[in-house]
Amino acid sequence: MLYNHHDISGQQIDLPAGKVVCIGRNYLEHIRELDNAVPDQALLFMKPSTALCSINSPLFLPENLGECHNEVEIALLVKDKIDRHSHDNFNSSIWGVALGLDLTLRDLQTKLKSSGQPWERAKAFDHSCPITPFVPVNQFTSLGDIDFSLTVNDKVRQSGNSNQMMRSIDMLINEVRQVFTLLPGDIILTGTPAGVGALKSGDKLALNLANRYKFSCEIK
Ligand code: ZN
Repeated sequence: MLYNHHDISGQQIDLPAGKVVCIGRNYLEHIRELDNAVPDQALLFMKPSTALCSINSPLFLPENLGECHNEVEIALLVKDKIDRHSHDNFNSSIWGVALGLDLTLRDLQTKLKSSGQPWERAKAFDHSCPITPFVPVNQFTSLGDIDFSLTVNDKVRQSGNSNQMMRSIDMLINEVRQVFTLLPGDIILTGTPAGVGALKSGDKLALNLANRYKFSCEIK
């Protein structure tokens, strides 16, 4: 199914579906739960536009590739090009905020990591990035204080607030733009808090953004 960005009223947003720049290890409790090292610069990786799908489309997990983990993350939709030469007022270049799932084939990722291979097979596969509709950025008083959570089968599995990020959203964008030019329609996933775990067919997910915007979906 072709993915397009949508806003919370159901309108399609007039921006193309671009690349997804993802941040790893941005919450200390999550680094600890996977026994990873704290990175001295932001850990960056990417998902292609083919990884995107709407949270409202049927969600399928890859089969026979081991555990597929939830990672709920604050997602930012880029409105204007941001590169190393652009101004520092990043908020004005962001269209809005959503929640994204950085679906991760954890067993495969562990294998890739141990043999020094890139993570794409575990993180960038088709539909590895379900995204909720976007809330316009002006609906938030501060991007540095956004509550969010993921509930699986009525139990809270992950909850966090952007104020717990080791690198704030401004710091992340500033670091990303030194490496990757962000184009209109690109998405930034800002890292996951603790509580990652395996999803399975039939799981009912509820995503809560800022205690005001609620989205639900089911794993087919
Ligand atoms: Zn992630």
